[in-house]
Amino acid sequence: MSKVRVRFAPSPTGGLHLGGVRTALYNYLFAKKNDGAFVLRIEDTDQTRYVEGAENYIIECLNWCGILPDEGPWKPGEYGPYRQSERKDIYRKYAEQLVESGHAYYAFDTPEEIENLREKLKAQGKYNVQYDFQNRLNMRNSLVLPKEETEALLKINFPHVVRIKMPRDEYVHFNDMIRGEIEMPTDGVDDKVLLKADGMPTYHLAVVVDDYLMKITHAFRGEEWLPSAPVHVLLWKYFGWEKQMPQWAHLPLILKPDGNGKLSKRDGERLGFPVFAMEWNDPKSGVVKGFKELGFLPEAFINMLALLGWNDGSEQEIFTLPEMVEKFSMDRVHSHGAKFDFEKAKWFNHEWIKRSSVERLKPHVKRILEDHGAVIDDENKFEKIIELIKDRCTLLTDFWPQGSFFFVPPTEIDTSSILPKWNENKNQFFIELIRSYSFMNLWDTEGIEHTFKELAAASKLKPGELMGAFRLMLVGGKFGPGVFEISSVLGKEETIRRIEHTLSLLK
Ligand code: GLU
Repeated sequence: MSKVRVRFAPSPTGGLHLGGVRTALYNYLFAKKNDGAFVLRIEDTDQTRYVEGAENYIIECLNWCGILPDEGPWKPGEYGPYRQSERKDIYRKYAEQLVESGHAYYAFDTPEEIENLREKLKAQGKYNVQYDFQNRLNMRNSLVLPKEETEALLKINFPHVVRIKMPRDEYVHFNDMIRGEIEMPTDGVDDKVLLKADGMPTYHLAVVVDDYLMKITHAFRGEEWLPSAPVHVLLWKYFGWEKQMPQWAHLPLILKPDGNGKLSKRDGERLGFPVFAMEWNDPKSGVVKGFKELGFLPEAFINMLALLGWNDGSEQEIFTLPEMVEKFSMDRVHSHGAKFDFEKAKWFNHEWIKRSSVERLKPHVKRILEDHGAVIDDENKFEKIIELIKDRCTLLTDFWPQGSFFFVPPTEIDTSSILPKWNENKNQFFIELIRSYSFMNLWDTEGIEHTFKELAAASKLKPGELMGAFRLMLVGGKFGPGVFEISSVLGKEETIRRIEHTLSLLK
């Protein structure tokens, strides 16, 4: 068995959306599981759709996800170049080989001529007209023209394309690792252009030639490519490379939350969730935020993505990357589409924040808090804060609303929530509490709690009646971890200052 080689072959046409990252991830998992190589090939033959910066962005995203390829444009292996535009000169001879063997032909029709035919046939009531076996003999191509004329046109470099001659009434068979045996008719498939007038190959030619030359053993791609599969399988056959043809797997679509069709960039905008891994600055439409900026951990993001279309057969949902590598198999990828659920995506992130060590979270939380102006000058205190609030954070960005009161006193204290039950007895309690706290030498959670409860008992008040007020004084609302823990992190002076401030508001 030859060494497993898989490829992720994005076109640099914009931000990398969920489906693209998942394709990369499944490629990565499969490669690592089988001690194989994961190749990145940039499919940039369509210059009209090329977007500046998109290639770097793809690499940055894969880097953020922790699934960097083994070979690629920025890390060449033996099978380069890894950008199709730099392979331009390779393809022509393969296109010509197909013309010689009778499986392709030169077509000299101008776009106007094609349009004219379409109009003519439409007038006869024929719609969905395409360049295929029904029409190819009415066009200007090497199947129709005398040999000398074709040669003369080629000699003067008359603009032309090379088209595959799709067979009529045939069935193409191949095996798909997810869908099993597939049979597809060639009827209805047009004579796809293989080589364009600018000398660039189309995706159809380039994908086959490159998968062959790069010794790709398994080709995984989105389900949207399934209709093109007969063209590709035929090309493998026409080149005489059938034995080297990769094992195909067409990955299920990621669907809109309601299951109604493929998830698109517009759905994200409409429903308010990200569809890109990372922020994408589109030269035309501007900046679109990604999962990263929204506060997702990459571990959570790829865990969620892997489970959108795959499971290991058990109930387990949380997987580390090495665990996924160990458990992944293509035959457990579903053939039906997977509905994207943003709430579930957030659940994954929450689980991952809970499970992550303080050490792991520190750099992320630091950046977020500092962006809000927090000054982090006490490492121990900072670690304690993360430990105290991480279970309450669904997104990394939640560390600010959940923890801002550790850094700045609450600006608004909603006393209306305690006013109805406020009385002189309680007021007196807090005055006493300030006094007792000011005498404490060792400021730790236990001591703070003990003093509070002893004083409550002496004042004949239940601690439960007082703790809500204490929390309000410290954090400004009804949320947050244990009050005595908060107080221990805030320190004695700050705790006393906040009690005094609220008491003055309650006067
Ligand atoms: N360039 C194609 C895309 O952008 C890749 C399809 C494939 O993996 O064969 O989706």
